[in-house]
Amino acid sequence: EKVLAKLENVKKYYPVRRGLLNRVAGQVKAVDGVSLVLHNRETLGVVGESGCGKSTLGRTLLRLEKPTEGRLYFNGTDISSLSARALQPFRNKMQMIFQDPFASLNPRQRIGDALEEPLVIHTQLNREERRERVMGLLEEVGLRRDHYDRLPHEFSGGQRQRIGIARALALNPSLIVCDEPVSALDVSVQAQVLKLLQSLQEKHGLTYFFISHDLGVVRHLCDRVLIMYLGQTMELAPVKELYKNPVHPYTEALLSAIPRPVPGRKRERIILSGDLPSPAKPPKGCPFHTRCPEAMTVCKEIRPEWKEVAPGHQVACHVR
Ligand code: SF4
Ligand code: MG
Repeated sequence: EKVLAKLENVKKYYPVRRGLLNRVAGQVKAVDGVSLVLHNRETLGVVGESGCGKSTLGRTLLRLEKPTEGRLYFNGTDISSLSARALQPFRNKMQMIFQDPFASLNPRQRIGDALEEPLVIHTQLNREERRERVMGLLEEVGLRRDHYDRLPHEFSGGQRQRIGIARALALNPSLIVCDEPVSALDVSVQAQVLKLLQSLQEKHGLTYFFISHDLGVVRHLCDRVLIMYLGQTMELAPVKELYKNPVHPYTEALLSAIPRPVPGRKRERIILSGDLPSPAKPPKGCPFHTRCPEAMTVCKEIRPEWKEVAPGHQVACHVR
């Protein structure tokens, strides 16, 4: 498949400020050297514990954050350091769906008007055409035309997420970063929203960067899965391969914690020792070494390379 986006050693660091004078006291390495290719029409699942940098990586991919270092390409164009103005033509093509769409809706604004806003700003459509487009969007995400006049509080959690999806679709994007879009929903509603996302992907040829902390959710949705830990990529593989042949000790531990493991795989739960280190103080060497059951001396000193262990299967570990 064609490459849609490409990241080359992308880093996003934030200063940590402290004290009365707000002095810079250090930095959080939210994303620390990620290299990755996103293919047209694929769904890439991005999994890791909170604080592993997956949301920051998603926001950086959309250039909502400027990379501290590294290169970011969209459709072959280097957009790593484009100005806000130069980014405009790319903005429509890259959208985001959030965990809580309600948080970004104005409680006093009718849903139809909220959905119309991006059309006012970014298209030449007239009032009639915009209204018709919004009606079409509502229907596309499984809502009704008469929902146009309702206020956000009149919708259920699942319906609000449909509104979030409609808003992301409004400008015909090619890439959507989905940041835990179903994590706050009941399991039955989750399945409906995931199904909707899949059918929209097929219809519009969308590419999803699907962030989740749940390996169970991404399993049925994604083509490939990326495992992150403390801002770094640990493992990337086609979805079946990852669940059948996980290579990285961290992936193995995550998989061992899913209630329904793959048949034939050993079921013992791998309990990780220690807590997740602070992203402001990531361990030297392999960031996972403080909790890894297989850590060796070298792991404390040298960061493992990101290398291919099978076609399309990459991992960062000294012993693999
Ligand atoms: Fe564990 Fe070492 Fe591999 Fe890191 S590099 S995952 S510490 S064995
Ligand atoms: Mg698919």
